[in-house]
Amino acid sequence: MSVKRRELSQRAMKVCKFDGCNRKHDARGMCTTHYKRWVKAGKPSDWDGGPPVGVLAPKPCMECGVMMQPRGNRQGRCKPCAAARPKQRKCSVCGKSFMTTVRNERTCGAACARKRARLSVCKFDGCNRSTHASGMCSAHHMRWTKLGRPEQWDGGPPIGAMSPKQPDEHVDWDAFVQRLERNAGPRTAALAQMELRRLRQRRAESEARA
Ligand SMILES: [Zn+2]
Ligand SMILES: [Zn+2]
Ligand SMILES: [Zn+2]
Ligand SMILES: [Zn+2]
Repeated sequence: MSVKRRELSQRAMKVCKFDGCNRKHDARGMCTTHYKRWVKAGKPSDWDGGPPVGVLAPKPCMECGVMMQPRGNRQGRCKPCAAARPKQRKCSVCGKSFMTTVRNERTCGAACARKRARLSVCKFDGCNRSTHASGMCSAHHMRWTKLGRPEQWDGGPPIGAMSPKQPDEHVDWDAFVQRLERNAGPRTAALAQMELRRLRQRRAESEARA
């Protein structure tokens, strides 16, 4: 090793005298930061260097006063206080800004929350399946697509209510409804009956017109 290189490496080896501080030596056996601190402290003859450089001094939470070890200069609140602080969000239903401390709050209040819950189920009466697309459940959406996406559509018979394949007059409707009730439950059966009445009424109306 040349003399010059050894000198360089020795100078590079010279670090701050304080334990754990590996900063480059600057003056009086200290790094620049420690030296500045020491000057600020009034140049005490016996001085321990204070808290490690780069670690911020503990300070009280501005909310509850508990002593905390801040991370970064701008942290003024302890973790629980920061979490409890209301945050501004935008309501996913009405778009209004609102304050909340709840992590998953998406709506500004009870009215919008109810609206959101309603929006997330299929738009057709009696169909409580969750929304898939265009405000419909996947089953209704599939039917609608098959029909060529009509603008005015009532959703057809309730999902799960199998329409009998024979012409109306040949069907034993009581048996059909009973079977439906057994297989799909009383609610679906009731809905199918309702749908049936509606269909009959519509047919009667169109026949009256004809
Ligand atoms: Zn130092
Ligand atoms: Zn606090
Ligand atoms: Zn809202
Ligand atoms: Zn549906």
